[in-house]
Amino acid sequence: MLSQIRTKVEAGQRVTKEEGLYLLKEAHLLDLAPVAQLVRSRHNPEPVVTFVVDTNLNYTNVCDAYCTFCAFYRTERDPDRYTHTVEQVMEQVARAEGQGVTTVLLQGGLNPSLPLEYYEDLVRETRRRHPSITPHFFSAPEVQKMAQVSGLSLREVLQRLKAAGQYSIPGGGSEVLSDRVKHRISRLFPKGRVADWVDVHREAHRLGFKTTATMMYGHLEEPEDIIAHLDTLRSLQDEHHGFTAFIHWSYKRENTALATRVKEEAGPNPYLRLCAVARIYLDNFPHIQASWFSEGAKTGQVALHFGADDFGGTLFDETVMQEAGWYNRTTVEEVVSLIQEAGFVPAQRNTLYEILRYYPAPATTGPGGRLGTWAVGAGAGAA
Ligand code: SF4
Repeated sequence: MLSQIRTKVEAGQRVTKEEGLYLLKEAHLLDLAPVAQLVRSRHNPEPVVTFVVDTNLNYTNVCDAYCTFCAFYRTERDPDRYTHTVEQVMEQVARAEGQGVTTVLLQGGLNPSLPLEYYEDLVRETRRRHPSITPHFFSAPEVQKMAQVSGLSLREVLQRLKAAGQYSIPGGGSEVLSDRVKHRISRLFPKGRVADWVDVHREAHRLGFKTTATMMYGHLEEPEDIIAHLDTLRSLQDEHHGFTAFIHWSYKRENTALATRVKEEAGPNPYLRLCAVARIYLDNFPHIQASWFSEGAKTGQVALHFGADDFGGTLFDETVMQEAGWYNRTTVEEVVSLIQEAGFVPAQRNTLYEILRYYPAPATTGPGGRLGTWAVGAGAGAA
């Protein structure tokens, strides 16, 4: 079956759901890597791995969704709840700019007391005061909340955010795009259905936004749910080609209600398998992101040989996964050296994956001599 799939991939043909399931459930892990690298090299032929200097900020932890996998949210009665003013968020954005950050990922809980104007001000003031920073703000559930609180349609909300200066939206809130799974992990289902996430991204793409697609796996999903998720993304991408990248990470148990039903966290093997299967299945996605952050640096490096071409962000102020007991920090220097150590040329990018700066190529050719076999493009290797 694998050789049949490889032949299809070489011919540029799409794999079916059944073939995706075979790759996920039955193929040998190491056999997936060369097929994934084939698709990777089609989209990104140079041995360059990109990264973004970014930070994750939060404006409120008040949320009325109570997701069982979440350790971040607080209710309106919790003493450690917070909602930052626009000025307080701007202070954090200014500090990020001083650190060289070019992308700010800003997310919060679904806070029913925040009006649409608050979100518009966050975007507008970021743009006005810090034009070098791209506001990569508000995932799909937050946009849904804005529509619910304001009484406007999704389209009208997105148009207002766009008018304020936003053109990029993060993919959070998808978890696993299967209503069967969402029913099991959300206390408020049918709020937060697959269609709700899809509607936001479809409408955003129609209006010219670029967005990312994510997956948080390793809890109550089955392989069929993962393939359904990838299939939904692939179909949606066929419509407007608004996704820049796919990013997956595993569920972290600590301090979450769901931990009583999930005995252990997924390790590196499922991460790498999913990385390769996503690269093969999502044949219309330009980028697949490896995560030094959620799975550890070494797994992130290996993922660069399982189809990923991007090393994610520096995530200077991440706190959501920290609440779930997961603490990981890095620097630009460390990211650059991890990419070089894995055998690739590091390049800093912006939110839209445009290259801002190349770093020197690694001294050696890296595992498998990949640099020796791939042509390095103009500018690559220059400091
Ligand atoms: S994951 Fe998001 S929507 Fe769900 S409880 Fe946490 S903050 Fe709220």
